[in-house]
Order: sequence, then C-alpha cells, then structure tokens
Amino acid sequence: MDNDCLFCKIINGEIPGDKVYEDEFVYAFKDINPAAPIHILVVPKKHIDCLANISDEDEKYIWAIHKAINIIAENMGFKENGYRIIVNSGRDSGQEVMHLHYHLLAGAKFGDKIV
Ligand code: 5GP
Ligand code: ZN
Repeated sequence: MDNDCLFCKIINGEIPGDKVYEDEFVYAFKDINPAAPIHILVVPKKHIDCLANISDEDEKYIWAIHKAINIIAENMGFKENGYRIIVNSGRDSGQEVMHLHYHLLAGAKFGDKIV
C-alpha cells in the first residue's frame, strides 16, 4: 500500500472503481478513459511501481495477473475473439500511474499494430 497511489486507493475502496474481477493477488477495474470498447486495468494488490522494478518475490502476482486476464476474458466472452495487452513501464513509455497495470483491450479488431 502506497498512501499517495491512485490505484492503491481504488484497490482498498478509498476511491470508487468499476471492479470486474478480484482475487487474493489481483484487482481489475474498468479504465476511466477507455481506448477500446472493453478496456480493463489489471493490477497487483501489492504496490509495485512498474514492470521494470518487479522482483522474484513478486512472481505470484505476475502469474496471478496473467491467470486473471484469461478468467476475465472467459467471463466477459472475448477469450475466443482475442484481446490485446499493453504494459507501459517508465518514462519513455508514457506511464502515468506508477502502480504496475496491464491494459486489457478487447471488443474490436485492432488495426493499428505497433508490433
Ligand atoms: P498509463 O498511461 O499509466 O499506462 O495508464 C494509466 C491509465 O489509468 C489510463 O488509461 C487512464 O485512463 C487510467 N486512469 C487514470 N485515472 C483513473 C481513475 O481514477 N480511475 C480509473 N478507473 N482509471 C484511471
Ligand atoms: Zn499503488
């Protein structure tokens, strides 16, 4: 928990978030400014600032995020059609919220491939 962190506050209920999934390690909620018909942020319940700074002890959170993505995809009915994951890490990526988050985008065929 980081007292000044927006996503920590959403996880602990201090700030409302539109929750779509939660388990022991993961919290997932709708992005406030969606970039796709479905745009969910999947975050670890532990405050980790960015992907570049994960450590071995964070392994369970990273695995849980990936499992959660597929549970959400199954529950919301887009697992078969597919989805895109984006993780920004650090200054050059444009990361704005310094709490690790996986952008889960779905509900459209994405034409603008970067990679
Ligand atoms: P970043 O640019 O750090 O990878 O992504 C941050 C994301 O958080 C953005 O897509 C932005 O729309 C989202 N966001 C920022 N503030 C809030 C908020 O208060 N609630 C929710 N649900 N999403 C937020
Ligand atoms: Zn945080």
